Amino acid sequence: MLQVKASMSSDLASLNSADILIVDDVPENLRLLSNILLSKGYNARKALNGQMALKAVAGALPDLILLDIMMPNMNGYQVCECLKTDPRTADIPVIFLSALSEAFDKVKAFAAGGADYITKPFQVEEVLARVENQLSLRAAIKLNQQLNLQLEARVKARTLELETANQKLQQEINERQLLEEQLRQMANSDSLTKLANRALFMESLEQACQCAQAQADYQFAVLFLDCDRFKIVNDSLGHSVGDELLIAIARRLEALLHPKYLLARLGGDEFAVLLTNCDLNQASEIAEKVLQEFTVCFDLQRYEVFINASIGIAMGNTEYQRPEHLLRDADTAMYRAKSLGKGQYSVFTPAMHDDALQVLQLEIELRKAIERQELFVHYQPIISLPTGKITGFEALVRWQHPQLGLIPPVKFIPVAEETGLINQIGEFVLRTACEQLHLWQSEKLVNYPLIASVNLSARQFAQTNLIEQIEKIITETRIAPENLKLEITESAIMNNPQAAKIILQQLRDRHIQLCIDDFGTGYSSLSYLHQFPVDILKVDRSFVNCLDRDGEDVGLVTAIIHIAETMNMKAIAEGIETPNQLVRLRELNCDFGQGYLFSKPLSVQDATDLLLSAPKW
Ligand code: C2E
Ligand code: MG
Ligand code: MG
Repeated sequence: MLQVKASMSSDLASLNSADILIVDDVPENLRLLSNILLSKGYNARKALNGQMALKAVAGALPDLILLDIMMPNMNGYQVCECLKTDPRTADIPVIFLSALSEAFDKVKAFAAGGADYITKPFQVEEVLARVENQLSLRAAIKLNQQLNLQLEARVKARTLELETANQKLQQEINERQLLEEQLRQMANSDSLTKLANRALFMESLEQACQCAQAQADYQFAVLFLDCDRFKIVNDSLGHSVGDELLIAIARRLEALLHPKYLLARLGGDEFAVLLTNCDLNQASEIAEKVLQEFTVCFDLQRYEVFINASIGIAMGNTEYQRPEHLLRDADTAMYRAKSLGKGQYSVFTPAMHDDALQVLQLEIELRKAIERQELFVHYQPIISLPTGKITGFEALVRWQHPQLGLIPPVKFIPVAEETGLINQIGEFVLRTACEQLHLWQSEKLVNYPLIASVNLSARQFAQTNLIEQIEKIITETRIAPENLKLEITESAIMNNPQAAKIILQQLRDRHIQLCIDDFGTGYSSLSYLHQFPVDILKVDRSFVNCLDRDGEDVGLVTAIIHIAETMNMKAIAEGIETPNQLVRLRELNCDFGQGYLFSKPLSVQDATDLLLSAPKW
């Protein structure tokens, strides 16, 4: 505001020193006007005709022109028009001079661009008044223009300021949004595989459940995938290879599945897929395709790895109130697939849930069973096939439940394995069997040393204090270690071959006999077998069964017995039920036999009686 005031007063002050051009072809008029103006402090220039006037204007722009109309060659109107067409001079105010006697056309004068007019003969006051008027007007216009320019400049500056601030704000918003997006991604994605994580999966699953509630015909499914024997990769090749494999699996699944399905890593070696708008047929087809993908080996940096997967499918329906129930059921179905032999898929049915509950109940009961001493051991005789006499017994655990009755080991051993209770159970069986063996031996029921065979589970086999535990029992029950035989399944050994080799050697060093149980049903390759210090191969019951069906698969029993022979091991056939099987096994030079044909597993009393009767088959 101050600025405006200052510039206005300076403009007004300059009015008096204004430069005025007088154009008239009559020198007398020129002189007269110039004197009037000079007397008032104006600067007056003179021109005698139009051409001179235009030249004078071009030389220096006057603040005002007094212009005679009637002039030879170029009249005042023409001069004025010339000035008005040139933008540099268009603004200069022109006051026309006209003699009263001349025919003066005001309309024409204003149309030519004139600002005012003065009639001759001049009256000094009128001339000065009109001149001052025009100069003030021009000054005001100029000032106005200046103010406008200043205002424009300030508006421009302010606009620019606002724009910059706006840009900055926008940039900040963008940065914040980016950060938020990054945080959201971090919260929702699995850092190893970059797939969706459990949180995001559960969120999407909840939405799908809500969709199903709102829309009766909406179908969706959850596919739960767990790698089979992934632990072996981690344990034998290292965790970084395990991680590499998980990433490779993620990428392969991602490539296979349509992007509309949500693929997530739930943790460990577990993946899940949310199949939206999908019926059971489609879900099964996808599960088959996924399993097919797992038949191709994974090409990692340093290793080629084959790995299988088991899949559980649970179909969504309106009864699912909570997403975690659906995931739990898919998980249950996956476990069913695993127990059916891995590398397959299974669809959840409510019966599976009941089974799972039963397993849970069984676990609770099993814990109590140990405290309440509901477990006991039965003994099944093992026969030397060349002599037909009992060489020893296999100790087989039994569970007499007060309400449920006798529960078979196939039902509770897997639960015990899963929960770790097997360590306690195994120790109990080993101690009981060794004590019994010592008792029989001290009673001298037979005149040769009997052998006790005890099963060792995979979980026990991985126990760090296993050797000490066994040594302690042997010492305390005072049996000879060579009269103890431990039965280990192939899969327990193959779970961790390196560690198994060491443990087996430690047992062998203590003269304990070692037997591979259920031989032929596991994973062992012959190239592995010779590395393990094992004394006996136990031919699985399923192969012995085949001996009755003429010709079929007999080769397998023959082969296993032959393998044992060439590796300097003994062979024992389990599950002998018919005399025919016995005959054929004897023909094949099998060393030992065990089965219902001889005797079922017996109580201590029955086993003692049997020994006393000294049977010979
Ligand atoms: P296994 O070690 O292979 O034991 C042999 C199983 O075959 C026993 O079943 C036995 O009763 C059964 N069997 C023996 N002869 C015949 C026959 O002629 N025909 C048929 N059909 N079966 C026969 P059981 O006692 O039910 O035990 C099943 C499995 O449970 C055992 O298989 C073993 O893997 C496990 N198990 C039993 N007791 C123990 C134990 O104390 N510790 C561990 N870790 N596992 C045990
Ligand atoms: Mg056994
Ligand atoms: Mg067996």
